[in-house]
Amino acid sequence: MTQILTCNDVKVDFDGFFALKGVDLQVEQQEVRFLIGPNGAGKTTLLDVICGKTRATEGSVFFQEMEGSIHKLEEHKIALAGIARKFQAPSIFPQLTVLENLELAMKQKKTLWHMLFAKMDEPTKEKIEYTLEKINLTQERNRLAGFLAHGQKQWLEIGMQLIQDPQLLLLDEPIAGMSGQEREKTGRLIHDVSKECSVLIVEHDMEFVRNFSKQVTVMHEGKVLCEGDMNTVQNDERVIEVYLGR
Ligand code: ADP
Repeated sequence: MTQILTCNDVKVDFDGFFALKGVDLQVEQQEVRFLIGPNGAGKTTLLDVICGKTRATEGSVFFQEMEGSIHKLEEHKIALAGIARKFQAPSIFPQLTVLENLELAMKQKKTLWHMLFAKMDEPTKEKIEYTLEKINLTQERNRLAGFLAHGQKQWLEIGMQLIQDPQLLLLDEPIAGMSGQEREKTGRLIHDVSKECSVLIVEHDMEFVRNFSKQVTVMHEGKVLCEGDMNTVQNDERVIEVYLGR
Protein backbone atom coordinates (compact mmCIF):
# COMPACT_ATOMS: atom_id res chain seq x y z
CA MET A 1 0.00 0.00 0.00
CA THR A 2 1.17 3.51 -0.81
CA GLN A 3 1.29 6.12 1.90
CA ILE A 4 -0.72 9.25 1.28
CA LEU A 5 0.24 11.11 4.45
CA THR A 6 3.38 10.98 6.54
CA CYS A 7 3.83 13.11 9.64
CA ASN A 8 7.34 13.08 11.04
CA ASP A 9 8.12 14.31 14.55
CA VAL A 10 5.44 17.03 14.43
CA LYS A 11 5.61 19.45 17.34
CA VAL A 12 3.32 22.36 18.14
CA ASP A 13 4.33 24.89 20.74
CA PHE A 14 1.55 27.20 21.96
CA ASP A 15 3.60 29.83 23.78
CA GLY A 16 5.59 27.32 25.79
CA PHE A 17 2.91 24.61 25.99
CA PHE A 18 3.58 21.71 23.65
CA ALA A 19 0.23 20.42 22.40
CA LEU A 20 2.13 18.06 20.10
CA LYS A 21 5.45 16.71 21.32
CA GLY A 22 6.71 14.83 18.28
CA VAL A 23 3.98 12.96 16.43
CA ASP A 24 4.74 10.34 13.79
CA LEU A 25 1.79 9.13 11.75
CA GLN A 26 1.35 7.41 8.41
CA VAL A 27 -1.92 7.04 6.57
CA GLU A 28 -2.21 4.80 3.54
CA GLN A 29 -4.22 5.28 0.38
CA GLN A 30 -7.88 4.35 0.80
CA GLU A 31 -7.40 3.82 4.52
CA VAL A 32 -9.88 4.83 7.21
CA ARG A 33 -7.83 5.74 10.26
CA PHE A 34 -9.39 6.56 13.59
CA LEU A 35 -7.58 8.89 15.97
CA ILE A 36 -8.61 8.42 19.59
CA GLY A 37 -7.34 9.50 23.00
CA PRO A 38 -8.43 11.44 26.07
CA ASN A 39 -9.35 15.11 25.94
CA GLY A 40 -6.33 17.31 25.45
CA ALA A 41 -4.28 14.53 23.80
CA GLY A 42 -3.65 16.73 20.74
CA LYS A 43 -5.94 15.05 18.20
CA THR A 44 -7.60 18.24 16.94
CA THR A 45 -4.28 20.06 16.89
CA LEU A 46 -2.88 17.31 14.67
CA LEU A 47 -5.79 17.68 12.21
CA ASP A 48 -5.23 21.46 12.34
CA VAL A 49 -1.57 21.01 11.40
CA ILE A 50 -2.38 18.65 8.53
CA CYS A 51 -4.90 21.07 6.98
CA GLY A 52 -2.71 24.12 7.60
CA LYS A 53 -4.92 25.80 10.20
CA THR A 54 -2.13 25.55 12.77
CA ARG A 55 1.56 25.80 11.97
CA ALA A 56 3.81 23.03 13.23
CA THR A 57 6.73 24.43 15.20
CA GLU A 58 8.93 21.51 14.16
CA GLY A 59 8.69 18.39 12.05
CA SER A 60 7.30 17.69 8.61
CA VAL A 61 4.12 16.61 6.87
CA PHE A 62 4.39 14.88 3.50
CA PHE A 63 1.34 14.48 1.31
CA GLN A 64 1.15 12.22 -1.74
CA GLU A 65 3.88 12.84 -4.26
CA MET A 66 4.20 16.52 -3.36
CA GLU A 67 7.73 17.70 -3.10
CA GLY A 68 8.72 18.86 0.35
CA SER A 69 6.73 19.18 3.54
CA ILE A 70 3.34 20.87 3.32
CA HIS A 71 3.42 22.15 6.89
CA LYS A 72 4.40 25.65 5.85
CA LEU A 73 1.81 25.98 3.09
CA GLU A 74 -1.25 28.16 3.50
CA GLU A 75 -4.57 26.50 4.30
CA HIS A 76 -6.14 27.10 0.88
CA LYS A 77 -3.11 25.68 -0.91
CA ILE A 78 -3.32 22.52 1.18
CA ALA A 79 -7.03 22.29 0.36
CA LEU A 80 -6.27 22.66 -3.35
CA ALA A 81 -3.63 19.96 -3.06
CA GLY A 82 -6.38 17.56 -1.98
CA ILE A 83 -6.80 17.65 1.80
CA ALA A 84 -10.36 18.40 2.89
CA ARG A 85 -11.39 19.19 6.45
CA LYS A 86 -14.84 18.92 7.89
CA PHE A 87 -15.19 20.66 11.21
CA GLN A 88 -17.66 19.65 13.91
CA ALA A 89 -20.16 22.43 13.26
CA PRO A 90 -21.60 22.18 9.75
CA SER A 91 -20.75 25.13 7.50
CA ILE A 92 -23.51 24.62 4.97
CA PHE A 93 -25.64 27.45 3.58
CA PRO A 94 -29.03 27.03 5.28
CA GLN A 95 -30.95 29.31 2.87
CA LEU A 96 -29.81 27.33 -0.17
CA THR A 97 -31.11 23.96 -1.27
CA VAL A 98 -29.08 20.77 -0.95
CA LEU A 99 -28.39 20.92 -4.68
CA GLU A 100 -27.27 24.55 -4.57
CA ASN A 101 -24.93 23.80 -1.67
CA LEU A 102 -23.28 21.05 -3.71
CA GLU A 103 -23.06 23.23 -6.82
CA LEU A 104 -21.42 25.97 -4.83
CA ALA A 105 -18.91 23.58 -3.29
CA MET A 106 -18.06 22.26 -6.72
CA LYS A 107 -17.53 25.74 -8.14
CA GLN A 108 -15.06 26.51 -5.38
CA LYS A 109 -12.45 24.58 -7.30
CA LYS A 110 -13.23 26.19 -10.61
CA THR A 111 -12.05 29.45 -12.07
CA LEU A 112 -13.88 32.76 -11.72
CA TRP A 113 -14.84 32.54 -15.39
CA HIS A 114 -16.60 29.23 -14.76
CA MET A 115 -18.38 30.62 -11.73
CA LEU A 116 -19.76 33.59 -13.59
CA PHE A 117 -20.46 32.37 -17.11
CA ALA A 118 -20.37 28.63 -17.49
CA LYS A 119 -23.55 26.58 -17.61
CA MET A 120 -23.55 23.30 -15.76
CA ASP A 121 -22.09 20.69 -18.08
CA GLU A 122 -23.02 17.00 -18.11
CA PRO A 123 -20.05 15.71 -16.09
CA THR A 124 -20.88 18.30 -13.41
CA LYS A 125 -24.51 17.16 -13.25
CA GLU A 126 -23.43 13.54 -13.14
CA LYS A 127 -21.06 14.23 -10.34
CA ILE A 128 -23.71 16.02 -8.32
CA GLU A 129 -26.12 13.10 -8.80
CA TYR A 130 -23.41 10.66 -7.80
CA THR A 131 -22.62 12.66 -4.66
CA LEU A 132 -26.30 13.07 -3.73
CA GLU A 133 -26.72 9.32 -3.88
CA LYS A 134 -23.59 8.69 -1.91
CA ILE A 135 -24.65 10.95 0.95
CA ASN A 136 -28.23 9.63 0.96
CA LEU A 137 -29.78 12.95 0.00
CA THR A 138 -31.18 12.32 -3.48
CA GLN A 139 -34.74 12.72 -2.21
CA GLU A 140 -33.84 15.93 -0.38
CA ARG A 141 -32.15 17.68 -3.31
CA ASN A 142 -34.62 20.59 -3.42
CA ARG A 143 -34.99 21.06 0.33
CA LEU A 144 -33.45 24.07 1.99
CA ALA A 145 -30.36 22.83 3.81
CA GLY A 146 -31.44 24.63 6.98
CA PHE A 147 -34.45 22.31 7.26
CA LEU A 148 -32.50 19.08 7.06
CA ALA A 149 -32.18 16.79 10.06
CA HIS A 150 -28.92 17.05 12.02
CA GLY A 151 -27.38 13.94 10.45
CA GLN A 152 -28.37 15.02 6.95
CA LYS A 153 -26.63 18.38 7.45
CA GLN A 154 -23.45 16.55 8.38
CA TRP A 155 -23.71 14.31 5.31
CA LEU A 156 -24.31 17.32 3.09
CA GLU A 157 -21.14 18.88 4.36
CA ILE A 158 -19.23 15.67 3.78
CA GLY A 159 -20.70 15.71 0.25
CA MET A 160 -19.53 19.30 -0.22
CA GLN A 161 -16.01 18.16 0.59
CA LEU A 162 -16.20 15.01 -1.52
CA ILE A 163 -17.40 16.83 -4.61
CA GLN A 164 -14.07 18.65 -4.67
CA ASP A 165 -12.24 15.31 -5.12
CA PRO A 166 -10.01 15.29 -2.06
CA GLN A 167 -7.43 12.55 -1.62
CA LEU A 168 -7.57 12.85 2.14
CA LEU A 169 -10.64 13.76 4.19
CA LEU A 170 -10.21 14.90 7.79
CA LEU A 171 -13.26 14.49 10.03
CA ASP A 172 -13.63 15.77 13.57
CA GLU A 173 -16.21 13.78 15.55
CA PRO A 174 -18.55 13.26 12.58
CA ILE A 175 -21.28 11.46 14.56
CA ALA A 176 -21.61 13.94 17.45
CA GLY A 177 -25.31 14.47 18.22
CA MET A 178 -26.50 11.80 15.75
CA SER A 179 -29.16 9.16 16.34
CA GLY A 180 -28.28 5.46 16.25
CA GLN A 181 -29.54 5.10 12.72
CA GLU A 182 -27.65 8.19 11.56
CA ARG A 183 -24.45 6.83 13.12
CA GLU A 184 -24.87 3.58 11.29
CA LYS A 185 -25.38 5.39 7.98
CA THR A 186 -22.39 7.64 8.64
CA GLY A 187 -20.19 4.62 9.35
CA ARG A 188 -21.22 3.08 6.04
CA LEU A 189 -20.74 6.40 4.24
CA ILE A 190 -17.19 6.71 5.57
CA HIS A 191 -16.30 3.23 4.36
CA ASP A 192 -17.84 3.97 1.01
CA VAL A 193 -15.84 7.21 0.79
CA SER A 194 -12.62 5.34 1.54
CA LYS A 195 -12.85 3.58 -1.83
CA GLU A 196 -12.01 6.95 -3.36
CA CYS A 197 -10.00 8.77 -0.72
CA SER A 198 -8.30 8.19 2.62
CA VAL A 199 -10.10 9.29 5.76
CA LEU A 200 -8.59 10.39 9.08
CA ILE A 201 -11.19 10.69 11.84
CA VAL A 202 -11.04 12.02 15.37
CA GLU A 203 -13.69 10.17 17.35
CA HIS A 204 -14.66 9.83 21.00
CA ASP A 205 -17.48 7.34 20.61
CA MET A 206 -15.81 4.02 21.30
CA GLU A 207 -18.73 1.93 20.12
CA PHE A 208 -18.57 3.65 16.74
CA VAL A 209 -14.80 3.14 16.57
CA ARG A 210 -15.24 -0.53 17.50
CA ASN A 211 -17.86 -1.04 14.79
CA PHE A 212 -16.24 0.87 11.96
CA SER A 213 -12.49 0.92 12.47
CA LYS A 214 -9.69 -1.20 11.11
CA GLN A 215 -6.69 0.82 12.17
CA VAL A 216 -6.68 3.01 15.27
CA THR A 217 -4.05 5.46 16.51
CA VAL A 218 -4.19 6.33 20.21
CA MET A 219 -2.81 9.70 21.24
CA HIS A 220 -1.93 10.86 24.73
CA GLU A 221 -0.31 14.09 25.94
CA GLY A 222 0.80 15.20 22.50
CA LYS A 223 2.25 11.87 21.37
CA VAL A 224 1.19 8.66 19.69
CA LEU A 225 0.77 6.07 22.43
CA CYS A 226 0.06 3.03 20.28
CA GLU A 227 -1.47 1.84 17.02
CA GLY A 228 -3.26 -1.22 15.77
CA ASP A 229 -6.73 -2.66 15.37
CA MET A 230 -9.28 -1.83 18.05
CA ASN A 231 -8.85 -5.20 19.72
CA THR A 232 -5.12 -4.69 20.06
CA VAL A 233 -5.25 -1.11 21.29
CA GLN A 234 -8.02 -1.62 23.82
CA ASN A 235 -6.06 -4.44 25.44
CA ASP A 236 -2.83 -2.45 25.51
CA GLU A 237 -1.81 -1.79 29.14
CA ARG A 238 -0.77 1.81 28.33
CA VAL A 239 -4.15 2.56 26.77
CA ILE A 240 -6.03 1.03 29.72
CA GLU A 241 -3.96 3.16 32.09
CA VAL A 242 -4.62 6.35 30.14
CA TYR A 243 -8.37 5.77 29.86
CA LEU A 244 -9.06 4.13 33.21
CA GLY A 245 -6.20 5.52 35.27
CA ARG A 246 -4.99 2.05 36.29
P1 ADP B 1 -7.89 16.90 21.75
O1 ADP B 1 -8.43 17.18 20.41
O2 ADP B 1 -7.14 15.59 21.82
O3 ADP B 1 -8.91 16.99 22.85
P2 ADP B 1 -6.48 19.41 21.39
O4 ADP B 1 -5.65 19.19 20.20
O5 ADP B 1 -7.75 20.16 21.22
O6 ADP B 1 -6.78 18.00 22.10
O7 ADP B 1 -5.64 20.16 22.49
C1 ADP B 1 -4.37 19.67 22.95
C2 ADP B 1 -3.87 20.60 24.03
O8 ADP B 1 -3.49 21.83 23.44
C3 ADP B 1 -4.92 20.93 25.09
O9 ADP B 1 -4.27 20.97 26.35
C4 ADP B 1 -5.42 22.28 24.68
O10 ADP B 1 -5.87 23.01 25.80
C5 ADP B 1 -4.19 22.90 24.06
N1 ADP B 1 -4.49 23.88 23.01
C6 ADP B 1 -5.20 23.64 21.89
N2 ADP B 1 -5.26 24.76 21.13
C7 ADP B 1 -4.57 25.71 21.79
C8 ADP B 1 -4.25 27.08 21.53
N3 ADP B 1 -4.66 27.70 20.41
N4 ADP B 1 -3.51 27.75 22.45
C9 ADP B 1 -3.06 27.13 23.56
N5 ADP B 1 -3.31 25.84 23.87
C10 ADP B 1 -4.06 25.14 23.00
